[in-house]
Amino acid sequence: MIYYTFLLTPNEVVEELNITGVKAYPLVQTLGSMSFGFSQGWINTRQTTIVIISTDEGIEGVGESFGPARAIAEAVEGYCAPMILGKDPFNSSVIWDTVYGYLRMNSQKGILIEALSAIDIALWDIKGKVVGLPVYKLLGGAYRDKAHAYATGLYRPNVKNVKDALVEEALGYKRDGFFAMKLKIGHASPEEDLDILKAIREAIGNDIKLMVDANCAYDATEAISLAKQMEQYDVYWFEEPVPPEDIEGSIEVKNNTDIRIAGGECECTRYGFRELIRRRAVDILQPDVCIAGGFTEMQKIVAMASAWNMQCIPHVWGTNVAVAAALHCYAAIPNIPGKINPPEPYFEYDRSPNPLREDATYEKFILQNSYIDIPQKPGLGVTANIDFLKAKTI
Ligand code: CA
Repeated sequence: MIYYTFLLTPNEVVEELNITGVKAYPLVQTLGSMSFGFSQGWINTRQTTIVIISTDEGIEGVGESFGPARAIAEAVEGYCAPMILGKDPFNSSVIWDTVYGYLRMNSQKGILIEALSAIDIALWDIKGKVVGLPVYKLLGGAYRDKAHAYATGLYRPNVKNVKDALVEEALGYKRDGFFAMKLKIGHASPEEDLDILKAIREAIGNDIKLMVDANCAYDATEAISLAKQMEQYDVYWFEEPVPPEDIEGSIEVKNNTDIRIAGGECECTRYGFRELIRRRAVDILQPDVCIAGGFTEMQKIVAMASAWNMQCIPHVWGTNVAVAAALHCYAAIPNIPGKINPPEPYFEYDRSPNPLREDATYEKFILQNSYIDIPQKPGLGVTANIDFLKAKTI
């Protein structure tokens, strides 16, 4: 077996690899009749930005960030690219800190950090391909070789009988073998949400884990009242009960319910997560590698989570590029805390309509008994379908 693509003899000097190209593909796909709702509105389009970084050795890396596609593409090509052309992808931390230093005044969170996330993911893909190792090996190795996937779905369907449609969707996830699923709440009144939650719990039985996600729909008082009423349905976690800006509110909710509080998908960088962590604002941290700053920043967030003994379950929402990146992060997250038989962390597997998800890469992920294998090929282990990217670019 060839483990490394190159091994230096003691007298050889490492040659620098140089970034020669940075290309962003902003992808948009309208959903039409597949549109669905959540607490903040209706999702009528899926959009994401795939970034391809090329090098003078011909090795290319792929990354993704799924915020506003045109804006992220412009941030990648127009703002970040001039700062990284000619740099060595193996200096990924140096690149991250250099770019962030320039961006800090303009964007400590949001679009520019999302652009930097996609770039960083592509750099790690290149690093893995150069040394012939999957990214999780570069992150320190896999604590687990498969991901225990839960279904993210159960959004607000655009149909007349919402409850029946959601019960049917939940039963579909059960038939697919999922061990857990997540219901969106906050679109309707708390009374209707509770009625739907009750119906889904009764339909799927007590052996399947059920989480709820409010996407920031409540203030602390409303969220605590709802949480107390949801406890009877054995809700495993309550995600983003309050807006991420309301850290005190999150702490208040966390301290007034038996249900775990999850959050962090809107947060960025080690600095943003430092606040969630040192204030113990949630029980479960949900950083997204495509939002929070790429692998480089995820390593730092996970290290802080470990030091503070807080669970870390990545948020995942993009195409198979994002899924692959999240799988490498997931594999490398230590057991927090460590013990001889640690519980498996959950892996978010988005099942909501996204025509971009599968075709963005040639490789597909296969769900078997609620598990997905961690990619084992060099880098991210997925190959972007450039023809598809070109066809879907706006
Ligand atoms: Ca969420």
